[in-house]
Amino acid sequence: MTATRVLVLNSGSSSVKYQLLDMSDSGRLAVGLVERIGEQTSRLKHTPVATGGESREWTGPIADHDAALKAVAEELAKDGLGLDSPELAAIGHRVVHGGQSFTRPTVVDDAVLAEIERLIPVAPLHNPANLTGIRTAQALRPDLPQVAVFDTAFHTTMPEAAARYAIDVETADAHRIRRYGFHGTSHAYVSRATAKLLGKTPEEVNVIVLHLGNGASASAVRGGRCVDTSMGLTPLEGLVMGTRSGDLDPAVIFHLARVGEMSIDEIDTLLNKKSGLIGLCGDNDMREIRRRIDEGDAQAKLAFEIYIHRLRKYIGAYYAVLGRVDAVAFTAGVGENAAEVRAAAVADLESLGLAVDGGLNAVRGDEPRLISPPDARVAVAVVPTDEELEIAAQTYALVGRH
Ligand code: AMP
Repeated sequence: MTATRVLVLNSGSSSVKYQLLDMSDSGRLAVGLVERIGEQTSRLKHTPVATGGESREWTGPIADHDAALKAVAEELAKDGLGLDSPELAAIGHRVVHGGQSFTRPTVVDDAVLAEIERLIPVAPLHNPANLTGIRTAQALRPDLPQVAVFDTAFHTTMPEAAARYAIDVETADAHRIRRYGFHGTSHAYVSRATAKLLGKTPEEVNVIVLHLGNGASASAVRGGRCVDTSMGLTPLEGLVMGTRSGDLDPAVIFHLARVGEMSIDEIDTLLNKKSGLIGLCGDNDMREIRRRIDEGDAQAKLAFEIYIHRLRKYIGAYYAVLGRVDAVAFTAGVGENAAEVRAAAVADLESLGLAVDGGLNAVRGDEPRLISPPDARVAVAVVPTDEELEIAAQTYALVGRH
């Protein structure tokens, strides 16, 4: 029997998201989520897509990631999709930070684990949880290949001119300070899917990808290779996000410390969790912001304008970085759903060849689609991202035919 199934695990500090895919047809067999691990009210939600069955939910204490993964394995076994199945080819793990060490998906061994651990100082929130996920999965199926797929890998092609901050080189190198970028799996998937939508190969097109979710990032992709992206050493840099500030004068931090008498941890929390849209207007959900704007709420309107202003600056910047742009692709929760954001992002940019057709932009759907007028010089597209499928595909490409 050929093993064609891949389990994709996205392990956070208190959650595990998972999907089981069959790579013979890229079909989803099961999807689910364990939340609030370590609390009394942990929650597991499992949807057996393959059987078309109802979602099952369970609430109760799940002590740690080990218990979470065992609970997931039990749910999968109920549908005949147990992790002991010979059809399971590998487990693919999302790993947030691969630094400069990992430029492609990598089969996990002790050296790989040690390197992911060495990168914890640059990804203190994410890499420890990702490591726990890998170790737990290894314990459950020691015989199975575990593959790490890095959020940063797609951006390792950035030239030094884009990746380096203009700070003292020795200090930067001593602390591995440079721009790494994140959401790479999504930028890779969406830039390739955009080329396909245009009937071209990735090598033939230059694309600006706008991944606008609760976290948000832009990237400039030339001929299938990333040449710039808006997130940096951490996911804090760049666009205005749901709860992150994105770009600001670094001196704001000195000012908050010296004049505002805030601690570094307080400033970290302020900029990562209490800024962006939620800091500006109290809401980080674009649906709620649009609803408030429709009711005449001035604060929500200003938050939206600040969000759009930053987004347009990045579109302009990446236009200049690429020189020639074939497509601008919108993806993730906001990018895929908020027609007003897409329209405002490219409004009055006809001189750059950018425009959206009001009718096409209003159409909703799950498929990649063009929203620019048929005669537009630059294609504007909505391309739903699928990070799990991309992780599964990369995992399977690496180990599937062993
Ligand atoms: P993500 O991080 O990609 O899951 O995106 C989550 C964000 O997408 C939410 O916080 C909302 O702001 C946004 N979103 C989801 N659905 C819609 C929608 N129908 N209209 C506008 N924004 C949406």
